[in-house]
Amino acid sequence: MTRSVTILGATGSVGRSTLDLIGRNRDDYEIVALTARKDIDGLIELAGKFRPRQAVIGDPAHFARLREALAGTGVEAATGEEAITEAAGAGADWTMAAIVGTAGLRPVMRALEGGGTLALANKEALVAAGDLVTRAAAEGGATILPVDSEHNAVFQCFDRERPESVRRIILTASGGPFRARSIEEMRRATPAEAVAHPNWSMGAKISVDSATLMNKGLELIEAYHLFPLRADQLEVVVHPQSVVHSLVEYKDGSVLAQLGAPDMRVPIAHTLAWPARMATPCARLDLVAIARLDFEAPDLDRFPALALARAALAEGGAKPAILNAANEIGVQSFLESRIGFLDIASLVGEVLASHAPGAPSSLDEVLEIDREARRAATAAIGKFLH
Ligand code: NAD
Ligand code: MG
Repeated sequence: MTRSVTILGATGSVGRSTLDLIGRNRDDYEIVALTARKDIDGLIELAGKFRPRQAVIGDPAHFARLREALAGTGVEAATGEEAITEAAGAGADWTMAAIVGTAGLRPVMRALEGGGTLALANKEALVAAGDLVTRAAAEGGATILPVDSEHNAVFQCFDRERPESVRRIILTASGGPFRARSIEEMRRATPAEAVAHPNWSMGAKISVDSATLMNKGLELIEAYHLFPLRADQLEVVVHPQSVVHSLVEYKDGSVLAQLGAPDMRVPIAHTLAWPARMATPCARLDLVAIARLDFEAPDLDRFPALALARAALAEGGAKPAILNAANEIGVQSFLESRIGFLDIASLVGEVLASHAPGAPSSLDEVLEIDREARRAATAAIGKFLH
């Protein structure tokens, strides 16, 4: 039986890994829509290869080229933010949410309203609007399957029928490229050094988040919304080999973990085939070659972003959305070499401390908090400019 699928953020790292798996099992899938923001060459290439019903480019400046390239192919061309959201709601059986940042939130909400299965990589959507996202899934009768490797690992180990039997979740963190660097070295870190992740190949934004450990902070908030536990039952341990993708401890002392090669196609395949399993071309785990697994506590002094995220989770309300928005501005400014690496967390801390709107109760309120936090972060950046 073929399944209809839509890939939001098709030209990115997760989007392409998803299409790699689909391409190996082409007859099992019918592609409804592929979307991208401005990578027009990537989108044209993927639309030619995968023949979706529709290809959507977010940036209207590229629409003429898309239409021209797809003329006569039977693939419909569309453009604009609203068209991406509409594509998310076009009724595919399975949708991959792989847009980066809060930009993915509206499409995520629209996909959930339509029911079906949402493979969720876009962690920022859950961080900014976790309660609204999980409520939309419940109301729409949609299933959320976590793609983030840690949460996918937990999902595979977590007894959802007996959540009270779980004592805690332990998320593993690679520690990123600066795990063993001093504060002074991090102060001078360049964007090229920050995106050079030791174990995973990923988009620029999440790579910088991995270097600051904000990624693990966002993942704590993500875990809080995906699994029925309290914030104090969620822990982080640094595990430089990225072999154990996360663990679930039960009250009897049993600890279940999911292990695998650090290749996003493993968790993506899990969500594509769920509840069945599919074959992948991924490297097999060679335990003898790996020989040892190391674990250490995260250093919150060198990686303050993790502590900021934990505090935002504890405070709740609008804080996680503010954390996420300020971080997006900080990461973008760092990637443009406008601020230093350590300034990212300083900026987030400052915006969090100076902004205290009430808890959002609608999508529009979340987006307003997001816009306001971006404005505040952009205004505060002057202090850090170098
Ligand atoms: P990426 O930068 O490689 O790709 C992002 C995709 O989103 C691209 O297709 C881009 O065109 C699209 N996009 C970007 N901004 C957009 C906007 N404003 N509107 C519409 N589309 C937009 O990112 P990625 O590394 O693939 O990450 C995607 C998401 O998955 C992120 O939320 C990330 O945190 C999460 N994630 C990624 C990985 C990984 O290995 N890359 C692992 C776990 C989770
Ligand atoms: Mg992760």
